[in-house]
Amino acid sequence: MQLESVVRPAEFDVLRIREDFPILNEKIHGKPLVYLDNAATTQKPLPVIDALRDYYLHHNANVHRAIHVLAERATEGYEKARQAVAEFIKARSERQIIFTRGTTEAINLVASAWGRKFVRAGDEIMLTEMEHHSNLVPWQILAQEVGAVLRFIPFTEEGILDVRRFETLLSGRTRIIALSHMSNVFGTINPIKRIIRMAHDRGIPVLLDGAQSVPHLPIDVDFLDCDFLAFSSHKMLGPTGIGVLYAKDHLLENMNPYQGGGEMISTVWLENSTWNEIPHKFEAGTPNIEAAFGFHAALDYLQSIGMKRVTLYEQELTTYALNRMKQVEGLNIYGDAPERGGVISFNIEGLHPHDLAQFLDQHGIAIRAGHHCAQPIMRKLNIAATARASFYLYNTFEEIDYFVDSLRKARVFFL
Ligand code: PMP
Repeated sequence: MQLESVVRPAEFDVLRIREDFPILNEKIHGKPLVYLDNAATTQKPLPVIDALRDYYLHHNANVHRAIHVLAERATEGYEKARQAVAEFIKARSERQIIFTRGTTEAINLVASAWGRKFVRAGDEIMLTEMEHHSNLVPWQILAQEVGAVLRFIPFTEEGILDVRRFETLLSGRTRIIALSHMSNVFGTINPIKRIIRMAHDRGIPVLLDGAQSVPHLPIDVDFLDCDFLAFSSHKMLGPTGIGVLYAKDHLLENMNPYQGGGEMISTVWLENSTWNEIPHKFEAGTPNIEAAFGFHAALDYLQSIGMKRVTLYEQELTTYALNRMKQVEGLNIYGDAPERGGVISFNIEGLHPHDLAQFLDQHGIAIRAGHHCAQPIMRKLNIAATARASFYLYNTFEEIDYFVDSLRKARVFFL
């Protein structure tokens, strides 16, 4: 792997960081692993793996129920994880943090528990054309159920939202706007501050799908003033099976429960029940306790590096990768937003993305090929699939060189 001359962000010791991720030493088909599928899920550092082990060695019990030491430890750890999430996104209170299975469940929770109460026949739900299926299908289900209408902010050829069109699409019937903060196909960072301001001027709440933004950008929900924010632990170094719905208190207070069962109740009679305080009102049943411990460790790990530095480093990597990829003959990149993150979707003319992904896998490189759970984007671009490389804080400039050299080799091999 040859390193071309690049400016590295000061004090970002990527080699030191890589030591914390044992999986990065794996050999794939005899080659060093180059993991470029971070938009799908990320690898886990030792402190996260240790936290999971430590939980089962020393703390395992159910939460919020029994009065014994292990139950107290499990409950304390689970609630400390909630506090850590609140601090990470600068929420005012941990009451605003609901643990879910991930981004998908968080959005379903809002579409179901908020939507069924506040969206009526003829009301409008505003989405964008660049949503992941997770921020599309729950709203389709709601709209079909209550007779609401879906509206879509279009994207331009560059993969940028047409904000002027957004303004004309707003109406007196718009009840909610739900959009991705950062696209998992184009990498575009959407102008959410502006969209939120315009929505709030008309009294409309905004849900942000933060699956791709919270892992990579410093987030301040108070500054953004979003009403709901959904994200997943597994895309930010934490375990799978846990994620977050952040919401403003008054919204949570006024929403119906999402699921019924243990923990979410205050009192239960045979015929009816009363609800627990927020956030517990939305956490029916035994939660993913060990994942909360692991997620807490992941948040501490990211905080110890600093999210601004993570963003800066990834920006350098992305700019470098884009410049090098553009030099590969026949390579088309989808999305050209000035404000973007480290997700690059592309195709090489005449080469199917699945064949390319398989070729790269033979060289130890993990990328994604497919529709990226965004079939409407593919349809609008008139393609079936793209290849996608996505970066995180442990990727290196040398890996990008190796990746781009392998793209060239793929062209020679197939074409
Ligand atoms: N939204 C976006 C933008 C995503 O990239 C993803 C994951 N690919 C999701 C939602 C869904 O996340 P999860 O599968 O963790 O629920």
